[in-house]
Amino acid sequence: MENRGSKINSDTASSSKIKNLKPKIYDTAIVGAGINGCASAYFLSKANQNVILIDQEGIAAGGSGAAGAFISPKFTKGGRLKELLEEAYLYSLAFYTQNFPDHIHIAKLLQIANSEENEVRLNAFKETTTLSFSEDSSAVESILTPYAKASASLVLKEGGVVNAQAMCAALAEGIDFNSEKVDHLHYAEGIWHIGDIRAKRIILATGSYDLVVKMPYLELRRIWGHRIDVKTTTKVPYSIHHHLSISPSSEEGILAIGATHNLHYNPFGDEVYDVEEGRKELLEKALKSVRLEDVEVIKDYTGLRSGSNDYLPIIGPVVDAETTMDENFKVSRLKWMSDDSFTSFPELYMINGTGGYGFVLAPYLAKQLTEHITNKTVLDTALTPTRFFRRWAKKKS
Ligand SMILES: Cc1cc2nc3c(=O)[nH]c(=O)nc-3n(C[C@H](O)[C@H](O)[C@H](O)COP(=O)(O)OP(=O)(O)OC[C@H]3O[C@@H](n4cnc5c(N)ncnc54)[C@H](O)[C@@H]3O)c2cc1C
Repeated sequence: MENRGSKINSDTASSSKIKNLKPKIYDTAIVGAGINGCASAYFLSKANQNVILIDQEGIAAGGSGAAGAFISPKFTKGGRLKELLEEAYLYSLAFYTQNFPDHIHIAKLLQIANSEENEVRLNAFKETTTLSFSEDSSAVESILTPYAKASASLVLKEGGVVNAQAMCAALAEGIDFNSEKVDHLHYAEGIWHIGDIRAKRIILATGSYDLVVKMPYLELRRIWGHRIDVKTTTKVPYSIHHHLSISPSSEEGILAIGATHNLHYNPFGDEVYDVEEGRKELLEKALKSVRLEDVEVIKDYTGLRSGSNDYLPIIGPVVDAETTMDENFKVSRLKWMSDDSFTSFPELYMINGTGGYGFVLAPYLAKQLTEHITNKTVLDTALTPTRFFRRWAKKKS
């Protein structure tokens, strides 16, 4: 089989520009090689699709490369996001463990309430969750601060911490890759063209970066985050989630602490990010929970998360707003119109808006997107871009 781009090799995850290769039409070209793009590439190639990943920088170069990549549910009362994250947590934990055990560290997960309001939510979670948990945190008590010990908590049997960059590279192993910034897409005679790459279908997995296709109905929130790896003589046996997340220690005594949530900092602007301030915030918060000793920061990771306005992720066909709102469109009929009656761009899909839960959600969502593409399974309309189109069209008219 001819090869369009360089193949991903998980050791190097290197990229190179395509040159002088015979034309080939891919089943799917995925723009963005973060966890969402890489997981989509993995499931589509398992479904026998010919896939190419395209990224302006490389594998896990965006928010995914910065993630602490803790695999946990959302400890709150009901709601669609809580249900979704509970399903995704179970699915993704099993998926990573079975397929990529070298890139996930499994340990118990201690969740500690960090305010009275948070305690109410944690208690509601205990009453409604389908996950089994205990309240016995005795194995970590010796390293917890008195404040953490006095707060309400629960222990899940399993939490995971993924090696973010290695996991993305492993998912993309064997998939063609091209290093290129995609500025526009062109569709002609049933085929998408990205430069000299041709594909029957495109998936946009571009995270917090500017949208490649005009979607006036979609606004994504950018949430800047900073996490650190530290070396410490304190042995942490569990994942501990309190004011932030602390991973279990590696054999070398290294653990991840993360992450900050900053809605104001824009890395594309002129302001320089204050790394020292970020480290200070992370260490202060970590020390509220665990008595870490001889701490030395050994690595900083920073990046952007991409969140939707209703906090739910976004997967599915991209609605073509202009064509849908032609002269026959009547907003008064909107509530009776099914999602199928909106015009989508031909064979153009997206996966985005996974916020602070990209590593929990990506395998679960990418599998659903793959089944939708290959078997025409119906996607949950609470997750498709159509929900934003509806809200926008209603306001606009
Ligand atoms: C500090 C931090 C800590 C986090 N911790 C966790 C955690 O503990 N657990 C968890 O589940 N999640 C966590 N997250 C969230 C998670 O990382 C994100 O949800 C996830 O990375 C989103 O993945 P993505 O593939 O959508 O986007 P990204 O990883 O940002 O990937 C998008 C890719 O698209 C490429 N791209 C964009 N536009 C173009 C273009 N025009 N042409 C070519 N390429 C393009 C970019 O180069 C980038 O590589 C964290 C995030 C941060 C920043």
